[in-house]
Amino acid sequence: MSGTGEGFVVGQQTAAGGRPGGAGQPGAGGRPGAGGRAEPARDLPLDAHLHTDLSPDSAVPIEVYAAEAVRRGIRELAVTDHLDFDPAAPAFAYADFSRRERVVREAAEHWADRLAIRLGVEITYERAREDEIRAYLQVHAYDYVIGSVHTMHGSPYTPARVAAFADGKRFGEVVAPYFEEVTAAVRSGLFDTLGHLDYVKKYLARLIPPATFAAHPEVYEPVLGLLAESGTALEINSSGLRQAPGETYPAAWAVDRYRALGGRAVVAGSDAHRVEWFAAGLETAYCLAAEAGFERLAFRRGADRIAIGLPARFGGLGRGAEDGRRGGGGEARAGA
Ligand SMILES: [Zn+2]
Ligand SMILES: [Zn+2]
Repeated sequence: MSGTGEGFVVGQQTAAGGRPGGAGQPGAGGRPGAGGRAEPARDLPLDAHLHTDLSPDSAVPIEVYAAEAVRRGIRELAVTDHLDFDPAAPAFAYADFSRRERVVREAAEHWADRLAIRLGVEITYERAREDEIRAYLQVHAYDYVIGSVHTMHGSPYTPARVAAFADGKRFGEVVAPYFEEVTAAVRSGLFDTLGHLDYVKKYLARLIPPATFAAHPEVYEPVLGLLAESGTALEINSSGLRQAPGETYPAAWAVDRYRALGGRAVVAGSDAHRVEWFAAGLETAYCLAAEAGFERLAFRRGADRIAIGLPARFGGLGRGAEDGRRGGGGEARAGA
């Protein structure tokens, strides 16, 4: 790893101290997942993270993704539109559950002979709103629930604040508020999956390169360990491949570390908000899962937690379809 060292202080980089991470800048570790691996995927069993025109930041009707999925051989989609609990956030009150449910279920029925479409949601987790989120999920039945930390009102990582917040701080201090929040999201036990772990790389890309994140595994280990214990799945989110970090959220090395810490449940999603991003980089995300030793993706279809085998080309079970109904990939095999 091209570590930039524990002495990394934002705003004080020397020639040896790490460069700003521009678009396409590969992460540390020399692994796949760097820029250039964000092409649209084909022939995969699942894209578990998508935004449609039911999210305020996407204009893509479900039917457009569905047609693309059929064309490319992506066999199952989770529509995971945003839901925010901060009244100042864009997806607050946007989510009319019954409308979303109707639109997604109608599309699912329409495409049922060619494609499976699930009613998911991506909830913005905030510690301060955990009780509200819990109460909401008790009465709204989604097939699949992602919990993610975004830049909400008051976040130090908004474009207007991030440079001043980071200036003069050590790496660990800069990312601490983010990692504290994602750790709480996992601890809440509310979610099937933790969305885009280390998404803070995006907000910090102009100040702290991905290589500096890779040089600080100790910052990730508490949340990775907690994920491994909790059974909440780790998402390998390919959107970072087309964004400034130029690598997945999280990067390959962190997926490996999660596995080493006992993590058994991963899933992959493209987090598309535009049709041209649909399934983009998803092949890379599957590849990282396989290379870390995973043979299945962890997913939920309503009442059923299931494991979906990676296609044979990834060296997994090779069935290309679900091979069990239990445990979100929990029944890992020896050597896997
Ligand atoms: Zn998100
Ligand atoms: Zn998303």
